[in-house]
Amino acid sequence: MLVVMQSHATDEQVRSVCDKIESLGLKAHPIPGAGRTAIGITGNNGAIDLGILESMPGVIECIPVTKPYKLVSLDVKTEPTIVRIPIPSGDVLIGGPHLAMVAGPCAVETEEQTLAIAEQLQPTGVHLFRGGAYKPRTSPYSFQGLGLPGLKILEKVRKLYGFGIVTEAVDNESLDLVEEYADVIQIGARNMQNFSLLKRAGRAKKPVLLKRGMSATLDEFLMAAEYILSEGNYNVMLCERGVRTFSDFSRNTLDLAVIPAVKKRSHLPILVDPSHGTGKRHKVLPMSRAAVAAGADGLLVEVHHQPDKALSDGIQSILPSEYADLLSEVRAISSLLHRHLN
Ligand code: PEP
Ligand code: MN
Repeated sequence: MLVVMQSHATDEQVRSVCDKIESLGLKAHPIPGAGRTAIGITGNNGAIDLGILESMPGVIECIPVTKPYKLVSLDVKTEPTIVRIPIPSGDVLIGGPHLAMVAGPCAVETEEQTLAIAEQLQPTGVHLFRGGAYKPRTSPYSFQGLGLPGLKILEKVRKLYGFGIVTEAVDNESLDLVEEYADVIQIGARNMQNFSLLKRAGRAKKPVLLKRGMSATLDEFLMAAEYILSEGNYNVMLCERGVRTFSDFSRNTLDLAVIPAVKKRSHLPILVDPSHGTGKRHKVLPMSRAAVAAGADGLLVEVHHQPDKALSDGIQSILPSEYADLLSEVRAISSLLHRHLN
């Protein structure tokens, strides 16, 4: 259910409607827009008595939202969400006209490795640095990440190079720490339907990057995002990272058609990860070009200064110099599309 407020409704009137909704045992989500505020209602299992809300001052109408996802839907908010990520060198914006780039190694392996990559990436102009301190690995015998010491290395990267940090939380315990150290909390493909983790991310004070599960439908993807918004965190970015298909030439099939499909249904920004999406470094540049051309709001790319020695995902990691070339091509494509690259 959505309560649409008049364009001149006062803050007081919006607050009274929210109070009324909460007094009915429901949750109110005021969503300010360019022209008017809408208030999403969640928590109702049955019908709500619309009469009470519709007669309140400042209310235009109540609209039932028929889609399974509500807060992520364009019904609730017609303008694209622009996520603002405050980092040491200013704010990074993602969504609407703004594109943002994220680059860095698959995993934080050692301080030397991470700082070397950060140092080589800094001149490219990328603002967000990625690197997993907690790694969800298929095999329990593979490198699992450094954990807290890895987060401390990322903190150093932030301090020395001014990058915003994007890093993954794999469970509620690591999310507490990631929330403290990172600028963006990543939820990985394997956890896209870890509902208790999604709810915890929804209570976090930092933006969330939600990766698509490797066999998730679009509805499942959007419903996972809905979990985060329904707990009050509206700063959510989606990320397409490839899905499993019968393709035998790439690790995953990068589903770029999901970008216009998301744009038709949701106001949330969507990034693309061409590294996990293809699994091979020679495919990263062409798929980056295609992703931006298809309307992606940013790219998440794995970069390593010594990919052949990487402890994870070396074969899909590109060199910092190759990343610089990728970035200049992406810059050219985005300006053609009248978009601003941070
Ligand atoms: C990652 O980005 O390091 C990662 C593990 O990706 P995904 O969750 O998409 O597999
Ligand atoms: Mn990886």
